[in-house]
Amino acid sequence: MDRSRVIDPQKGLDALVRELAAAGYRVVGPIVRDGAIVYDDVTSGSDLPTGCASDQAPGRWRLRIDDEPTRFGWTPGADSWKRFLAPAHQEVLRIRRHDGSWVSEAPPPPDRPLALVGARDCELRAVAVLDRVLLDADRPDAQYAGRRRDTFVVATTCGVPSATCWCTSIGGGPQPHHGFDLRLTELHEGGHRLLVESGSELGTEVLGRIPGRLATDVDHVAAEAVVARAVEHLPPRLPGSDLPALLAGSASHARWEQVAQRCLSCGNCTMVCPTCFCSTFDDTTVLTDDGSAPVETVRRQHWASCFELDHSNLGGVPVRATIAARYRQWLTHKLETWPAQFEVTGCVGCGRCTTWCPAAIDIVHEAGVLIGADDRSGAGRREEQP
Ligand code: SF4
Ligand code: SF4
Repeated sequence: MDRSRVIDPQKGLDALVRELAAAGYRVVGPIVRDGAIVYDDVTSGSDLPTGCASDQAPGRWRLRIDDEPTRFGWTPGADSWKRFLAPAHQEVLRIRRHDGSWVSEAPPPPDRPLALVGARDCELRAVAVLDRVLLDADRPDAQYAGRRRDTFVVATTCGVPSATCWCTSIGGGPQPHHGFDLRLTELHEGGHRLLVESGSELGTEVLGRIPGRLATDVDHVAAEAVVARAVEHLPPRLPGSDLPALLAGSASHARWEQVAQRCLSCGNCTMVCPTCFCSTFDDTTVLTDDGSAPVETVRRQHWASCFELDHSNLGGVPVRATIAARYRQWLTHKLETWPAQFEVTGCVGCGRCTTWCPAAIDIVHEAGVLIGADDRSGAGRREEQP
């Protein structure tokens, strides 16, 4: 069977979405809503953005729409696939009184596996980070495992990186190489088309059912040119693999207090980060009419942030009481201590935390100051004014 084909950007994408839905997947992909690109259920290829581009800078994300037929000319917004694999709010346990005893129930697994359409390399590496943490053999997260099982991934090459992207500094790049069943690369030279390459046997099977033609050397060369052009726009900004060593010993650096003068401790950076997995739980108990023994207790899990004061409560006292301490925890966990803890880097260089920071704080620039490096691209230098 063919492992690479060329499909029409409109009809072919439509056929792909419909094929995945017919195969029993819950198909999720990018859509335009309220002036932004978010991920949601899609039922046809025409639900995916057309003629969209995004302008990004520290503290800024804007959608531009033109009359072009481009399908993947944008970079992701605040949303990430994390929301579908580990939702922001979810019930995890229900305990109820039954026949004089207690019965506990976990929510059932999803009725359909997910198909993620349009995932970038940084996003696939972020899912791999979540897998490393939440599918840990000793303590797997059952809810996450249920959602992650049999996920079908349609990745896409990032042809137009944004000004806050820095994936090439931290082990990634514009083209996904792992973790996908199909990979799309949008081509313009020589005619608008999508090169589709399979990354798994299942991907090859699905590809065989999508109308298109065999890919030629011309198509593959055009795809290489797309990647090369994207890499040109992604000059390395930090020495990624050396960051743990370079940041070690920075705990008392004066920069933490300086950035704390601007940081609002709002937690936006942690909410949009596709690898942040901290969560908290609450229990809601339903009492009988007379307020005696409870009849039911529901436990829910919610995303949490290391910028919340009570996140570091130990014995009733927050050990990271200042914003400087909380920002230091955020940055050093991402870039310094994560590899020792999980054997992977905790940051994939997607730039979301910088784009969606209301104070325009750029994690790359801050890390560069801490290690005494020059931020060579100059992106994200809006340091003092948001
Ligand atoms: S760094 Fe920015 S996004 Fe993160 S908590 Fe501070 S102000 Fe909010
Ligand atoms: S720390 Fe920032 S750049 Fe790194 S993965 Fe999280 S949101 Fe993306």
